Amino acid sequence: MAYQHRSLDGSLLNLPVGKVVCIGRNYLDHIRELNNAVPETPILFMKPATALVPLDEPIRLPTERGECHHEVELAVLVGQEVRNADAETARRTVAGYGIALDLTLRDIQNELKKKGHPWETAKAFDGACPLSPFLKPAELPQPLAADLSLRVNGEIRQQGNTRQMIVGVFDLMAYISTHFTLQPGDVVLTGTPAGVGPLASGDGLVLSLAGYEFSAQVA
Ligand code: ZN
Repeated sequence: MAYQHRSLDGSLLNLPVGKVVCIGRNYLDHIRELNNAVPETPILFMKPATALVPLDEPIRLPTERGECHHEVELAVLVGQEVRNADAETARRTVAGYGIALDLTLRDIQNELKKKGHPWETAKAFDGACPLSPFLKPAELPQPLAADLSLRVNGEIRQQGNTRQMIVGVFDLMAYISTHFTLQPGDVVLTGTPAGVGPLASGDGLVLSLAGYEFSAQVA
């Protein structure tokens, strides 16, 4: 079934499905684990709407393209246009919060990085962004201090708190909006904490955001 934005109770949200704007290297512990430099300005990239799939459908990993890594991330659903906004204005446009996997073909990305090429073939493929239903803003009262984690087959792989972000959620939206207009139905992914690693067929996942848990399964 085609991806549509939904709320926790399963009802459809009255927003179109747009682009996904993402930030690389927004948690220090993850920057260190990949031996990257701390960026001076946020590193932005995008996934197209065709990357979005519901988190509760079996995750189909690309075959014969090397390791596909999980990156668990807080996802923000944009409810109103954001352009050249400040952080407070950006905050008022949020329609919901969810949790996503920024699936990354790590071997391909490493090759692209070496050549200084863009990352799209590693990060923007069909199905590269499994995404949960959205909590209402009132259901996540502290988005700047929210726990998030990923368990794979019962074992904690990634664990963090959004307060560890280098660029906070609303500052990030504001920064993005000086480069690309965010439209209703767009999604912002806010970076991943440490612990990224490969997924394998049959893996059972539990993504957790501020105590809300979402299960997923790799096909
Ligand atoms: Zn990511």
